[in-house]
Amino acid sequence: MLKGDIIMKKYAEMTREELLTEQAELGKKFEEIKKMGLKLDMSRGKPAHNQLELSNELMDVLNSDSYFMDETGTDCRNYGILSGIPEAKRLMGAMSEVNPDDMIIYGNSSLNIMFDTVSRSFTHGVCGNTPWCRLDKVKFLCPVPGYDRHFRITEYFGIEMINIPMTPEGPDMDLVEHYVSTDPAVKGIWCVPKYSNPQGYSYSDETVRRFAALHPAAPDFRIYWDNAYSIHHLYDDPEKQDVILEILEECRKAGNPDMVFKFISTSKVTFPGSGLAAIASSQANLKDTQKHMTVQTIGFDKLNQLRHVRFFGNMANMHAHMSKHAEILRPKFEMILDTLKAELGGLGIAEWTEPRGGYFISFESLEGCAKAIVAKCAEAGVKLTPAGATYPYGKDPHDSNIRIAPSYPKLKELEKATAVLVLCTKLVSVEKYLSI
Ligand code: PLP
Repeated sequence: MLKGDIIMKKYAEMTREELLTEQAELGKKFEEIKKMGLKLDMSRGKPAHNQLELSNELMDVLNSDSYFMDETGTDCRNYGILSGIPEAKRLMGAMSEVNPDDMIIYGNSSLNIMFDTVSRSFTHGVCGNTPWCRLDKVKFLCPVPGYDRHFRITEYFGIEMINIPMTPEGPDMDLVEHYVSTDPAVKGIWCVPKYSNPQGYSYSDETVRRFAALHPAAPDFRIYWDNAYSIHHLYDDPEKQDVILEILEECRKAGNPDMVFKFISTSKVTFPGSGLAAIASSQANLKDTQKHMTVQTIGFDKLNQLRHVRFFGNMANMHAHMSKHAEILRPKFEMILDTLKAELGGLGIAEWTEPRGGYFISFESLEGCAKAIVAKCAEAGVKLTPAGATYPYGKDPHDSNIRIAPSYPKLKELEKATAVLVLCTKLVSVEKYLSI
């Protein structure tokens, strides 16, 4: 691999002397960077300030002079309509590619719905099945690396988590089929099917069909299909956008209509923490859910539903809005990918994914190096997601995965943070080879 006119040599092929020279040079650079007193944060997938600005008019579509009735004449300022106003269901249904009747709009957070769904299954059971709290063992399958907050929910309830390796096509389906069909203690699986967190992978048609055709040993097994990044493309060109099969439809076709809970939110469309979140599922599952919801609340925030409907109007406008997000995000992703390729490509010390959407890049260091790289970055003033966070119990068995979150910092800051990541990866990798 050529870098300028210098031939980049694989670290594994370097002599001890070459490694020591490399270490000395990198060490000098590291000390210089430390003196810069950087304070950069590449740890969480939050939209940047200018992305939030895109939705400011959401705050103007309702004011004291507004008409507050929904399309059926219900006053959105008052109690009523537990499952969401019809026009909000249509909008979220379109975003999620499901029939609006198969959806309930909740409050502001899909993670909250996922927590409630697990919690309800624990205390009251799923559709008349034994509550999980009365069972000796409850297990969840966890595609890894995955989303740390999913794993925190299942850990919180004492659910045993089983790692399932991810591939660019989705989770290892041989393993999924094996566990789901043979072990009745397996009650669920966490999935981020499109632009997955952290790899940015999207499930292939075959993967989705194999999910839909599962034969669970447990009647209350459910797929937790977290479609958080359903419309979050980085490119407008349809050729560069991932498309996945719609899981509810596939499950219906396969004779498994009740097997999925699908979650969605506008957290990374409008304002995180102040958006709309929804669950889509079969009528049987929704009926079961609503039985508990009626105890939990008299209704969610219908004014926010009205606000979102009036702000977007239709799905085409929502896509146009996402394209503006992409304009901000794309240069950040591209800069990181270009830098990693130019600086680490060919060295044999790291691999990374190249997502076409979503919020993250997944970075694989040499085995046993991720924690040390994250610690070194912190020493140089760059905060990354803690190594291990992408695995259940915070334990990455290979200590190699680092989640890169390009969205929040400004491009200039991100350039510096990426340079630090590159430097620390080289430094820690050289140290590893010197220690062998
Ligand atoms: N699901 C995934 C996969 C996420 O990455 C995130 C946020 O990073 C969430 C859910 C959180 O969604 P919400 O804000 O709707 O709770």
